[in-house]
Amino acid sequence: MEGYEENKYGLRELTIEEIKFIAEAGKRLGIKAYKITGGEPTLREDLVDIVGILKSYNSYVSITTNASLLHRHLDRLVEVGIDHINVSLHAISPHVFKIVTGTDLHKRTIENLYLARDYGVKLKINFVVLKEMNEEDISRVIELASKLDASVQFIELHPVGRAVKIYKKHRLPRWKVLEILEDRVVEIKYRIGLHNRPVLLLDNGVRVELVGPVGNFLFCAGCTRIRITYDFKLVPCLNWRGPVIEVRPSLEAAKSFEEKIEVVVRAIREANSMREPFVKYPAKPVSILRPKRDEDFRIGIPKRDGRIDVSPSAKKYMKKRDVGYTELV
Ligand code: SF4
Repeated sequence: MEGYEENKYGLRELTIEEIKFIAEAGKRLGIKAYKITGGEPTLREDLVDIVGILKSYNSYVSITTNASLLHRHLDRLVEVGIDHINVSLHAISPHVFKIVTGTDLHKRTIENLYLARDYGVKLKINFVVLKEMNEEDISRVIELASKLDASVQFIELHPVGRAVKIYKKHRLPRWKVLEILEDRVVEIKYRIGLHNRPVLLLDNGVRVELVGPVGNFLFCAGCTRIRITYDFKLVPCLNWRGPVIEVRPSLEAAKSFEEKIEVVVRAIREANSMREPFVKYPAKPVSILRPKRDEDFRIGIPKRDGRIDVSPSAKKYMKKRDVGYTELV
């Protein structure tokens, strides 16, 4: 856990043995991808061992990190075959970076991004857009991504955890980001599965995803994740308010390796059965990206192969702005 100094959190963190149980249970259930987040995963000295265990099951493995300690792990992460790294970058300006993170680690973070590029790691920059804080940096992030051969995820602030307090003041809706970028968009696609996110291809070749969960039924409809907490609880949704699944008590009661794997398999199945979209589809059609505007249009529901069914009004709009689209035939 990042930012917590008390030892009690560290002592409860998932052990290597528990991670092996998760990997084995995941294999039996057909889980194909793991993202290691945190807190801050690079604080664990054994991060490379964890990635190595999950990779040994032929899984797709990525981490999300603030990159300030990435240099300590990079060479071995590459050795064990990390598939990509998401770097949470809070600002391009060192001044704003310090306000958001409370640290002077801006320079090192940027250096580590370049280091990761030099190691040939696939990079994604996570950029939480904050009104009146870092919105000026949107174009600068795109330029940085182009130099790093990285893609960018512009993330809408959502009202969870500590962000509840600053949500109203600093939330910049995702369609505002789209407005800033729209003159540079040459193609719009959808990712099917992972939150059905719109993917924008920009004129300099950078791929941008808009990650906007707030009130977004399409986003929740494409949610494919279960969260495992640092102390081995399973949570079916980021906004979950009900009881979570505690794995450890049953795990401790189980004797053999097989019994322990069975406990984890059952827990994952149970968490999966509790999952439901937090934001549900509305009964009547609404537009996806630009609600409450005169030139509003519905660009359609993405199909299985990633194409979208573009309505006549959307076609007109896109033609006017010279934006490409893939038509459903
Ligand atoms: S269902 Fe929950 S975890 Fe999944 S995208 Fe929606 S809010 Fe996030």
